[in-house]
Amino acid sequence: MWNLKDPSLLREQCFIDGQWLGAQQTIAVTNPATGAHIASVPKLGAAHARQAIEAANRAWPAWRARTAKERAALLKRWFELIMAHQDDLATIMTLEQGKPLAEAKGEIAYAASFIEWFAEEGKRVYGDTIPAPVASQRIVVTKEPIGVCAAITPWNFPAAMITRKAGPALAAGCTMVVKPASQTPLTALALAVLAERAGIPAGVLSVVTGAAGDIGTELATNPLVRKLTFTGSTEVGRTLMQQTAATIKKVSMELGGNAPFIVFEDADLDAAVEGALVSKYRNAGQTCVCANRLYVHAKVYDAFAQKLVAAVQAMQVGDGLQDGVRIGPLIDAKAVAKVEEHIADATAKGARVLTGGKRHALGQSFFEPTVLADVTQGMAVAKEETFGPLAPLFRFETEDEVVALANDTEFGLASYFYARDLGRVWRVAERLEYGMVGVNTGLISNEVAPFGGVKQSGIGREGSRYGIEDYLVVKYINMAGI
Ligand code: ADP
Repeated sequence: MWNLKDPSLLREQCFIDGQWLGAQQTIAVTNPATGAHIASVPKLGAAHARQAIEAANRAWPAWRARTAKERAALLKRWFELIMAHQDDLATIMTLEQGKPLAEAKGEIAYAASFIEWFAEEGKRVYGDTIPAPVASQRIVVTKEPIGVCAAITPWNFPAAMITRKAGPALAAGCTMVVKPASQTPLTALALAVLAERAGIPAGVLSVVTGAAGDIGTELATNPLVRKLTFTGSTEVGRTLMQQTAATIKKVSMELGGNAPFIVFEDADLDAAVEGALVSKYRNAGQTCVCANRLYVHAKVYDAFAQKLVAAVQAMQVGDGLQDGVRIGPLIDAKAVAKVEEHIADATAKGARVLTGGKRHALGQSFFEPTVLADVTQGMAVAKEETFGPLAPLFRFETEDEVVALANDTEFGLASYFYARDLGRVWRVAERLEYGMVGVNTGLISNEVAPFGGVKQSGIGREGSRYGIEDYLVVKYINMAGI
């Protein structure tokens, strides 16, 4: 089916404690480009989440007792299998998520890179020796795996949001239960097929699909779970943090953003347009690091707008499986409604549609990539994440003004700006209240750098040597009587 080289990657069962498990009740997975039914996955609840947690707890002592090198060997095998099945995994992802196949292949490579990176990084979990204040004592600090971890992941990056949690967790010696988004469980289950083939022991990684609230509550409240890692909306993140408070769990939260993208008057405009395309329209605008507000200096506003519109009009919209498509459908009707609301609100308050502005003739959840001009701070797009292919252009005059506007949000995930003046580059990079700043680039994510936010965009970092810290606890040993 769908020309998969290895059809056994497409599973309609969950993976709990090394067993594949079906269920009477199921969730239908549909293709957002066509509305067609692709497969059905089990609709499980709290009881199965508990089973997976208990299995993870049983598997933990043996897994943590292995050397980091032994765990790395298994993780590398998993990485190699993912890359060997890159095409099939990308096809499954495009079918359930909608993103263009080339982007899906890119995400699989990106997802795999976290497993490769952390397989190595697990070997470098160093401690400290600290000179003691008492002559007869020696102070040693070690880092240990925190224990059973739970991960709740979103639909916009169905593979990478799992591996950048599971990679460091497993490398550090933790076990993990994953609850993937109900829109995109098939990619998650295919990753589990390959983890099993790689020889990762039963219970070390389980994938449970089903009712988000029920499974989420179990993962957030079960005392065996020592850490919860979540990527998704700020609203759900807040609920989950509240639920974890009762058992004082460590949390990592990668939540919403409202990224500013600033084009100063000394910017290379062609490079800025290129960066805006990648940052704004990748995954049809459905990433938490997507440029949400484009601030353009008054002197270059019209020139930038003209170039951006030309580039946007050249992008082909369509089914992600077709050659040449740059923009796929949005995930669902609700996502389309949000983009429409933002456009209606902005135009009612004086914004102009330069291109796009409405549902695409292809139907389903396709939307025309849109550029709005004359956008101002009082419009909904200035405050809320659109999560769609809409670029609102704001005009500014001074550096102080634009930094204040950029920081005027409760979010603080990604930010971008284009400028050549060295003093300005330093000043603005330091003044932006964001976890990440892209200077003269619209693409900042990779496995070696710390991804994460400040303010209400989250807690913790993923990727890089900082990323493994989220799965470790510090132990201090005082050896006295020497
Ligand atoms: P998005 O806007 O990306 O869909 P959500 O926060 O709604 O973000 O969803 C992200 C993940 O959180 C998904 O796996 C979803 O199933 C899950 N989720 C949604 N609601 C809840 C909830 N009340 N408790 C736990 N998990 C939830």
